[in-house]
Amino acid sequence: MKIAVLTSGGDSAGMNAVVRSVVKIGILRGCETWIVREGYEGLVRGNTQDYVPYDAPLADPIAAKRARGGVKSAIFENLRFGDGDLLRDGTLDHPNGRSLKGRYIVRAGFDDVRGWFAEGGTLIGTARSKAFRTQEGRLAGAHNLVKEGIDALVVCGGDGSLTGADIFRAEWPTLIDTLLAQGLITQEQHAKHGHLRIVGLVGSIDNDMSMTDLTIGAPTALQRICEAIDNINSTAASHSRAFVLEVMGRHCGWLALLAGVSAGADFIFIPEKPPQANPWEDEMCEAIQRHREVGKRKTIVIVAEGAHDANLQPIRAEYVKDVLSERLGLDTRVTTLGHTQRGGRPCAFDRILPTLQGEEAVKALLESTPNTPSYMIGVRENKITRVPLIEAVAMTKAVADAIAAKDFAKAMSLRDPEFLQSLDNFLTTSTLYKEKQLTPDKRMRVAIMHIGAPAGGMNAATRAAVRYCLKQGHTPLAVHNGFRGLLDDLIHELSWLGVDGWTARGGSELGTNRTLPDVDLGAVASRFQEHNFHALVLIGGFEAFNALLILENGRKHYPSFNIPMVHLPATISNNVPMTEFSLGSDTSLNALVDACDSIKQSASASRNRVFVVETQGGKCGYIATMGALATGASLVYTSEQGMDLDLLRQDVKFLKIRYGLDAKGRSEGRLVIRNECASSVYTTDMVTKMFKEEGGTLFDSRSASLGHTLQGGVPSPMDRARAARLSLRCMAFLEEHHDRLQLQPSRVKTAPPESAAVITIQGSALKWVPVQEMVKHADMKNRRGKKLWWAGIKDLVEALSGRSELL
Ligand code: ATP
Repeated sequence: MKIAVLTSGGDSAGMNAVVRSVVKIGILRGCETWIVREGYEGLVRGNTQDYVPYDAPLADPIAAKRARGGVKSAIFENLRFGDGDLLRDGTLDHPNGRSLKGRYIVRAGFDDVRGWFAEGGTLIGTARSKAFRTQEGRLAGAHNLVKEGIDALVVCGGDGSLTGADIFRAEWPTLIDTLLAQGLITQEQHAKHGHLRIVGLVGSIDNDMSMTDLTIGAPTALQRICEAIDNINSTAASHSRAFVLEVMGRHCGWLALLAGVSAGADFIFIPEKPPQANPWEDEMCEAIQRHREVGKRKTIVIVAEGAHDANLQPIRAEYVKDVLSERLGLDTRVTTLGHTQRGGRPCAFDRILPTLQGEEAVKALLESTPNTPSYMIGVRENKITRVPLIEAVAMTKAVADAIAAKDFAKAMSLRDPEFLQSLDNFLTTSTLYKEKQLTPDKRMRVAIMHIGAPAGGMNAATRAAVRYCLKQGHTPLAVHNGFRGLLDDLIHELSWLGVDGWTARGGSELGTNRTLPDVDLGAVASRFQEHNFHALVLIGGFEAFNALLILENGRKHYPSFNIPMVHLPATISNNVPMTEFSLGSDTSLNALVDACDSIKQSASASRNRVFVVETQGGKCGYIATMGALATGASLVYTSEQGMDLDLLRQDVKFLKIRYGLDAKGRSEGRLVIRNECASSVYTTDMVTKMFKEEGGTLFDSRSASLGHTLQGGVPSPMDRARAARLSLRCMAFLEEHHDRLQLQPSRVKTAPPESAAVITIQGSALKWVPVQEMVKHADMKNRRGKKLWWAGIKDLVEALSGRSELL
């Protein structure tokens, strides 16, 4: 199969990762891969010049042949066609005589997309093509594809681009009949190209596509927005100012909403849910005034560019500013983030998601028949999905139609359930409610504790829990320094304002350590009793899970543990069993990506350097494995897989073949990621020295240990949003079990085992797992789960580096 990939519509971070993934996986699956420059416009224009088809694929065919050792590999045949660098440099001409002038459909090899991961935007260009909206344009596009023999197309773009893709697919039989009738293609070509295989990937910063949780580029855009708000926060607080931020999103308020949750805004305006009050200015001013009255020194209002009131009258940032200045007397400024939201290096998620989706796109093309629908590749929580393109496009349009018809309830219902929940989360964590929601008999004293190592999102989760408590009428109690602090009575009540800035804070505001309650279980129980805790929230990693288990086991002997207790997983190692993500793991992956981008740059500058990068993670290889996928590492070592001499021998052989294939003087820096506990014998130092020794004149080696930098400074927006979501679910769980306990007739209550549980993310759902059930799924010795959803990713890492194919 000959597969072409194009990017269309507005650019977004992660589009390059899509192209890289489609090209590499396509080649590995035995396809020929092509790139269409400048979106549909390039398809319409095609190749107007004759050109040398491609360079000899290898710089030094004899050396390569020797390296190949007689093994036939798709990579040898498809290594390099010399155009990747032209695309990357943005140059049309190259001193070697090759030129992209007049060429819009170009062949791409395995190495042509090297290093594309870390670049923002799209290196193959994008455009908004008027010509493609016409049938003549699409006819020219079809002709150009048939001329090159291309029979499959991957389109990465927004809803417009995918609509175009769907029209193109539906029209294809007519288009090729016309081409035949006009004598532009032969009977043979007509017969061969009767069916266009097409698949769509959603590249859009707005996250505006239905039937997928996330679009490619949206997480990076959210990161840019949160960085901006974090920066504005300090100046706003210094001058006690208000800031009105306009963010992108014409029909979709996802960016504004998630930024509101993640950055802790005071008020937001989104198109799907205009303010209810009439006039809305009163509602906004009242909310902000209340915040100011408790002593808040800064105000952040986020306005989506497509925001409007209930009558579809646009709500503009400038107008919001005037209202805040005139009515509340606030010194107010407007900041329009504009295109800064699009730009920059993709975050870890915008490398991992497009890579996995690109793999799925190639799979879908290979499986496609004239009877299967064209798919859009989406994601639901953590699962890559295929949905019929036509349905996704129709549903997306239905949201815009519902907004235009002022049917906002329908517009909200057409967004995914998480969107609705996020709005609820925003209101709960940002509003200072006038009245308590619960009657005094239902109110609880809730203890909140951090356990284990710090992880991004711990503070955001605590903030959400505190704000929920205050809304309901509960008393949120901070237990400082974990169980040691509890024994030392380091407990104090948290306030609404006191936790205001906690979303953006890394580390642990409460203080955390690894002490478990069995340090003195009796004394811990008596503290529970003295402080009259009705519920407990433990935020942490494997230790927190262990602590919960000890407390649950202790219920038999200590009545004060007969209260609802939850564990909210937060650890950069992501080693808590049964949950796919713990808080902090996204922040940590981003820290790893940042560090590795710099390391790889240095390694590439030296032309032939292998960097062995050591990561934290204990005996859980999650960070190492996902980090390897997100940085394009060549090899990854984990404790799960272990290391032995045979493996190392194979790896050295692979690196020799790989460096032998690099064009002369153009060797790349390569990364090898090693989890700190992968082996006690084959240490990072030892592996580095071995690579150096074995690399001879081909490659050199250095090491870097990322250590505690992986805890990340500022938590990522994904971790902050996830923290709010999980924490609020925890609070609802505690309330429910507290109510149930109150219904027990006896004075001494007996909490059932399921009231001590861990909140987990499993597929598309949040699930409660009783801690006693969790133990069955835990490898307690190695401190990780027995089943690891990400275990297969190692194979993908090695496939993408060529190891699987070259050995
Ligand atoms: P973004 O979300 O960034 O706006 P988009 O993909 O929605 O991205 P559009 O400008 O709507 O951006 O579409 C990109 C291109 O897709 C258009 O310039 C056009 O070439 C093609 N396209 C869009 N809609 C159609 C259509 N109905 N028929 C044919 N082609 C279309």
